[in-house]
Amino acid sequence: MNIILLGPPGAGKGTQAHRLVAERGMVQLSTGDMLRAARTSGTEMGKQVATVMDRGDLVTDEIVIGLIAEQLDNGAGGKGFIFDGFPRTLPQADALGELLESKGQNLHAVVEMKVDDAALISRITGRYTCNECGAVYHDETKKPAKDGECDKCGGHEFTRRADDNEESLRTRLMNYYRDTSPLIGYYYAKDQLKRIDGLGEINEVAARVAGVLDT
Ligand code: AMP
Repeated sequence: MNIILLGPPGAGKGTQAHRLVAERGMVQLSTGDMLRAARTSGTEMGKQVATVMDRGDLVTDEIVIGLIAEQLDNGAGGKGFIFDGFPRTLPQADALGELLESKGQNLHAVVEMKVDDAALISRITGRYTCNECGAVYHDETKKPAKDGECDKCGGHEFTRRADDNEESLRTRLMNYYRDTSPLIGYYYAKDQLKRIDGLGEINEVAARVAGVLDT
């Protein structure tokens, strides 16, 4: 079962992807995580995309399609891939369709997570992650049980993304509405779109995701 999680920045795609990995043995393919890893390890491509990402703009289709193609070639799809943050443009969506077809695979569903814009801004500007295990926290809505200690792995180091500030977020939202939201119509026309309300407790949203995947 291969699925796409589609939605604006802060919709909760990463959080729900982590749940699906833990509960169903699926494999998360997040182009944002791959690009951040390339930056941290200082590759040529990582250096090239750094300023574009910090501004909140999209990196080129060529780069992200290349990253996804590489992962699909590795073939370790477990119980299926979760495409998180990819595709984000129509050419990326076409490329994904072709890549999957060339591997004899298909898309089971595209889950659109709907969240209103005001909620996105507060979700994003308060979020941080554990350096050790990637668990996601929030200043107001999801603090660790013990201050400064990750609930999952006990880590003490946390990071805020350089692009999780209000200015970059507005650019990311603009790019979402301009370049990514046409994918809603694209997948609707292909009869693959499932829409869910992305607002609410993580468990509630997870149940909605499960509801559309299991029907
Ligand atoms: P994300 O972690 O999905 O919010 O992505 C962080 C940043 O990485 C985005 O703001 C873009 O600069 C870049 N990025 C991630 N995925 C893509 C994609 N599919 N196409 C273009 N740029 C991307």
